[in-house]
Amino acid sequence: MQTDETSGNADEHVCDLCSHHSFETVGSLDRRGRPLETVICTNCGLVSHATLPSEEYLRTRFSGEANQLSAWNTPAGCRRIMRAWQNAIRIRGQISLLLPQGGRLLDVGTGYGCAPKVFQKAGFQAEGIDPCSSLMSFSRDLLKASVTDRWLSEMPAQRTYDVVLLIHVLQYLRSPSQTFQQISSLLHPGGMLYIECPNLQAPFARRTRLFHREHIHSFVPSTLIMLAQQSGFTLRRRFGDDQDNSLQMLFQYSTIKSTHVYSESYPAAMEALGKAGLLPYHLRWRYLFNRFRKLQRFTTERIASGRFVRQLIEECHSDDNCCSPLPGPSRTRPLV
Ligand SMILES: [Zn+2]
Repeated sequence: MQTDETSGNADEHVCDLCSHHSFETVGSLDRRGRPLETVICTNCGLVSHATLPSEEYLRTRFSGEANQLSAWNTPAGCRRIMRAWQNAIRIRGQISLLLPQGGRLLDVGTGYGCAPKVFQKAGFQAEGIDPCSSLMSFSRDLLKASVTDRWLSEMPAQRTYDVVLLIHVLQYLRSPSQTFQQISSLLHPGGMLYIECPNLQAPFARRTRLFHREHIHSFVPSTLIMLAQQSGFTLRRRFGDDQDNSLQMLFQYSTIKSTHVYSESYPAAMEALGKAGLLPYHLRWRYLFNRFRKLQRFTTERIASGRFVRQLIEECHSDDNCCSPLPGPSRTRPLV
């Protein structure tokens, strides 16, 4: 089904963080060179598309066959699952000791359902939600994860969770502030929210490579923290540093809300955009190291991802029903 991608007049755009109307254009192309106007709020520094995609477009994009992740049984799909599983294990290692042990956890926009399965194996009552029914079929039937085919907005506002995960989801949404509010309505006071999303301050090749058509909003640390504070969240721990490609933050829900806009946020975001230059980036030792690791990872994934996913499915079935393991290659070593 074809839907209109944009919601209309860019002049009607209101900043999702501070409700101001004053924007400055910071980009005219997406990373593939296609037209895409990107703006920054001159009050708070939140970066977004000048014209937001319509809600109908996003619903079609993420719930149906247009979701590219839904084709999991392909070499590319297996690579994505392997990466998602390994990311979930890294995140569990980062935050699990800071969470209430055995608590009820919800992974919003769970995709393949790797995070709820990984946290379930660590003793959490872990669940996931995602609007894509075919992804939920993979997660439920093959990974034996506890997942549901639904949007965050469809969750009843009942404080039943101790932990919410939002892993590389926030940048795809029309209203990050509304997302924070919806999550706050699900958490017990004192509950924890872990977020990962792309870091606009990370060194990129050049400004024209910064802006992704699917990423409606882009964040620097201060804009992500201000959005969280507006809904009653306090930053408890930041992982990584300004050089990391992802912001990784653990917040705690305290019910104390703040609408304060940091005066340094807009200049900091502009400085981050100004640093996006080809030469400094490519001369960085960290860039070279990361490129090497990325190439190494692609090679490993290309060779091993199919076997990895088969073994993962076998292991998840064995955990779920020890008397009827799936036929397949013999297990070598546990994946967790
Ligand atoms: Zn703003």
